[in-house]
Amino acid sequence: MQKEDYIKRCQDLAAGPQFQLSNYVLSEVREYKKSKSRKLPVIWLETSDSGDNNIAFMNTTYPYLGQVFTDLIDLLYSNTFMAAQGQDALNILEQAAVKLRGKFTLVVEGAIPLKDNGLYTIIAHTEDYKLTALEAVTWLGPLAEYVIALGTCASFGGISAARPNITGSVGVRKVLNREVINVSGCPINPDWFVGTLAHLLMYGQPELDNLGRPTLFYGFTVHRHCQRRSYFDQGQFAEKLGDIECMFSQGCVGPRTGADCPYRQWINHVNWPVKANTPCIGCTNEDFPDGSSPFFTPLPEK
Ligand code: SF4
Repeated sequence: MQKEDYIKRCQDLAAGPQFQLSNYVLSEVREYKKSKSRKLPVIWLETSDSGDNNIAFMNTTYPYLGQVFTDLIDLLYSNTFMAAQGQDALNILEQAAVKLRGKFTLVVEGAIPLKDNGLYTIIAHTEDYKLTALEAVTWLGPLAEYVIALGTCASFGGISAARPNITGSVGVRKVLNREVINVSGCPINPDWFVGTLAHLLMYGQPELDNLGRPTLFYGFTVHRHCQRRSYFDQGQFAEKLGDIECMFSQGCVGPRTGADCPYRQWINHVNWPVKANTPCIGCTNEDFPDGSSPFFTPLPEK
């Protein structure tokens, strides 16, 4: 499949992109591997976050998690998923970084605390050595072929950097002098991550928006394809949560939030916040959560 067809199928509203991605990503990756015979080598660092993105990733459907590991990525190191601990784990990380220098994809899940030399997030702790998230990311970032910031904490600081940000946390781009692919969300939809990994494997870096996010998933606002959009256009707004009209009046920030939630949907593609009667809180945005809070606050003007 050509790159343009892949992007089109990911965004094809008429056919339902959740099914398009589901139907095509795995078969295309398998077809690709017949000639290229490689998976995407990945080093995954979990830093300062809640772990929500790896849980979301484990809930990937079509392809399922086992299929992602079998067909799409070669997970070389993960301080969350791997069984090895301590110096054994560090040895694996060092060997992978040296052996696959310039060829691996670095996934960073979480923000990077800067205060007190990054002391507030430790990736590895042996008897005589502490590796902070700041040290790990600044060491591995320049060695990677691609860097993915997974989730809004990694992309922009997110909740880890929310006021008063006592750890001085920032997003990955702020500590690396290079291109970073921001797959934002709190948490991410697993399709956004799996689809980006597949794009990297088969076609290289995807087109990014001005916040560094793949346009194939973040190119439209939530508002554009929201099922309540007709209420908005007719000026019919909910007076309270639970009403069926547009929830702009209840603090919905869908109009300024880039993401395909209304038609990709979540939990095996069956639901998303507005469909579940709660406003979009803008979790993919650069200013989340401070820029959206207090949540659910009715705006002064409709
Ligand atoms: S509920 Fe939110 S996203 Fe949907 S139409 Fe209203 S303002 Fe837009």
